[in-house]
Amino acid sequence: MNGISYRLSGMNIEAIDVCPVRGPRKEAVRSGTTGATPVSVSEFGIVRLRVDDGREGLGEISITYPRIGFTLCHAARRLIVPRLVGRDPRRLPELLSLIDATLAGELSAPYLRAAFEMALLDWTGKHYGVPVWQLLGGRARERVPLAWGIYQKTPEEMARDAGAGLAAGFHAIKLKVGRALDDDVAAVRAVAAAVGRQTPLRLDANEAWRSVPQASQAMRALAAEAAVEWFEQPLPRNNLSGLRLLRQQAIAPVMVDESLQTLHDAYEIARAEAADVFNVYICEAGGLLAAAQIFALAAALDIPCILGSQAEMGVGTAAAAHLGVAVPNFTHAWETFGPLRYTREIVQPATRIDNGFLYPAEGTGLGVTLNEEVLAEWTVEE
Ligand SMILES: [Mg+2]
Repeated sequence: MNGISYRLSGMNIEAIDVCPVRGPRKEAVRSGTTGATPVSVSEFGIVRLRVDDGREGLGEISITYPRIGFTLCHAARRLIVPRLVGRDPRRLPELLSLIDATLAGELSAPYLRAAFEMALLDWTGKHYGVPVWQLLGGRARERVPLAWGIYQKTPEEMARDAGAGLAAGFHAIKLKVGRALDDDVAAVRAVAAAVGRQTPLRLDANEAWRSVPQASQAMRALAAEAAVEWFEQPLPRNNLSGLRLLRQQAIAPVMVDESLQTLHDAYEIARAEAADVFNVYICEAGGLLAAAQIFALAAALDIPCILGSQAEMGVGTAAAAHLGVAVPNFTHAWETFGPLRYTREIVQPATRIDNGFLYPAEGTGLGVTLNEEVLAEWTVEE
């Protein structure tokens, strides 16, 4: 130590509310993970952090599967809030270290860390009078191209959805596969017929195929029906050697999603040569800065990256929009259109998604405030 003490004075986190919310979805959705029990609501949390400068920061606890959002709200209130209240919100690295130490590697830690980091960055932007994208390094582009995602339905419904997605301006189409192979083939065939074979499809198995031979057979059958942009998570998350074998078969690029949460996971996947493309999440990485670090690692390794979605509501999607205009390496459309999944919008101004592009809200911080009426309607009393 050089003996110089550096103190920031006169600013404290006064209070943090963590509010469990239940957001009804426009449709109940099925994927390779949730096939038996479709998801019809999202049970998330809203973090509302107040500082004694009179400003507020917003964060979102987003996790669709497993459905532990309310449990995370409980953990946030019991474990994290007491450790942050009274502390200086400008000392972000210190606060994040406190959260990390408190959660000590717990599997769900990144989701909580991300929500609090989001709220702290929102506050920081408001305090210094800059948008969050400025805190992330500055603006690289004006807007974020989006892909449209379609869950498991009948082939006719999926084809209709895909056509509507393209007509609405979305830049790519993602389908949830991983049912019986005949059903997947019928769905992909119907969608390819609806959108034309020149539109590459992203096919997400959500770990449904259990072995390399099973995955390989399914991938070959589906690749015969459509131009496939990539197969997402064709094998269980820990099977990195299997993913590497699938890549070597060169049927189509292999994307990791469930295998990849943190920066350390990204490193292990790259070392194992287990993926052609990364699907990164703010909530799984442990925040916007952590997600940006994965993008930076991927850039160094020349691995394309997208930001995926846990169907984030308006706060989480606002964060994604700021990251999306700030990351230097943007190669493929992102999947962060969560607010379109819900019956109502929890932020104002409403998330701007036009012609397949997501725009960050204007203003400082994340640029959004809560729609108090929707918040009240969605809040779950405990
Ligand atoms: Mg996925």
